[in-house]
Amino acid sequence: MGSQLERPILIAGGGPVGVIAALALAQQGLPVQVFESAQRVDETPRAATTHAATLEMLAQLGLLEDVIRHGLLAPLFRIWDRSSGEMVAEFDFGILRDDTPHPYVVQCDQHKLVNFAIERLRAFSHATIEFSASVTEVRQFDDRVEISVHCGSNTRTITGSYLIGADGGRSMVRRALGIAFEGYTHPERFLVLSTTFDFSGTYDDCLRNYFSDPEEWCALFKFSGADGRGLWRLLFPTRADETDAEALDSGAIERRLQAFFPKAGEYSVIHRNVYRVHQRVADRFRQGRAFIAGDAAHVNNPLGGLGLNFGIHDAIELSRLLGSVVRDEAPASALDLYDLRRRPLNFEYVQRQTIDNKNRMEEKDLNVRTANFEALRKVATDPAAHRTYLLRASLIDSVRNQPRANADTILLRERRDPARL
Ligand SMILES: Cc1cc2nc3c(=O)[nH]c(=O)nc-3n(C[C@H](O)[C@H](O)[C@H](O)COP(=O)(O)OP(=O)(O)OC[C@H]3O[C@@H](n4cnc5c(N)ncnc54)[C@H](O)[C@@H]3O)c2cc1C
Repeated sequence: MGSQLERPILIAGGGPVGVIAALALAQQGLPVQVFESAQRVDETPRAATTHAATLEMLAQLGLLEDVIRHGLLAPLFRIWDRSSGEMVAEFDFGILRDDTPHPYVVQCDQHKLVNFAIERLRAFSHATIEFSASVTEVRQFDDRVEISVHCGSNTRTITGSYLIGADGGRSMVRRALGIAFEGYTHPERFLVLSTTFDFSGTYDDCLRNYFSDPEEWCALFKFSGADGRGLWRLLFPTRADETDAEALDSGAIERRLQAFFPKAGEYSVIHRNVYRVHQRVADRFRQGRAFIAGDAAHVNNPLGGLGLNFGIHDAIELSRLLGSVVRDEAPASALDLYDLRRRPLNFEYVQRQTIDNKNRMEEKDLNVRTANFEALRKVATDPAAHRTYLLRASLIDSVRNQPRANADTILLRERRDPARL
């Protein structure tokens, strides 16, 4: 092992990407310290879909059983045409049974994954996680990195060998490193609702449904919920002229739900939230001894459930590279691979797929909508095309393939006409 090992690897942010990175490092015997600004794990509903490629990584960390036990297995997803009420296409991850031991997604709330990872992390004496501890400054030297950590009324300096900024979309680490976050913000916001109403009867136990519509689309998912019995979550775009308060108003929520899914009696809505959605990728994922990962490095719309999965892949790949360099199995230059691989892969697999998914959901031109649906039907009914499509959608391809030589970074500069969004 190199002398680097005497200093811990520092992680800013104890969200899913930070704690998975910490666990992957700690399991290699590397000292690691995580600093999380919040007082406790954020339990508000956020990402829930864990894809096959990620499940394979979680299995290596020993987290798979927990995630499956506390989640819901979902082999299918369906795309619907809201105006005709017809199902356009059904996709079945079961077709990947020869490609992965996990031919399904697991619907498991991200805070559960964070709690499982922290539980495992606490077993390592060389790993710590500190809550109510905000990283406020970053300084780099040839042989070390220093951060200022603000906790209560104290600020102290911590020295490490490397720093991972896993501190979310507004990343302080990314800003401190002066790394630009190029891309755009969608003009509409996304409204997320969780209801106790059971859609299973209507949607035949398919846990992931996407309703395409030129006026107002919807994504409908089942997730395991606090008691594990399952709750349904709905995602809608707000109207451009609608304020957050209007979108969150109980009467407006009831009208929105009834207009989309009419039923007798009121919906019981147990959680509501509105959030801004961006398509952005950091200009670089590494600067010297500091790296950014997860939402700190890339953000995208949630259609396809790709952002957090890709962030977990960042964490795994970066911890492997750091491990091999710290153990002197690879030269320090191997760390360049992190930016060289992850950034183009994000454009190719996450930005492109989520932008395409959103465009398909909201397409206004009837001819284009019809052509899109026809293309989806063709893919879903041709086994070879179906498999190819799902290898991409499950991020298996992104793990097995090298990125294209020139990633399509232009994608985010081609800002679409906001009037169409
Ligand atoms: C409201 C909402 C709903 C979402 N819904 C979905 C969804 O339905 N599907 C989907 O795929 N994705 C969804 N996402 C995105 C998904 O939640 C993120 O991709 C995921 O959380 C990224 O994980 P992360 O660990 O990179 O960042 P985060 O989860 O943001 O974690 C970053 C952590 O860093 C901490 N932190 C921040 N600054 C500092 C600092 N200076 N010092 C120390 N700690 C710091 C934060 O408190 C936080 O705990 C949603 C996001 C939001 C905000």
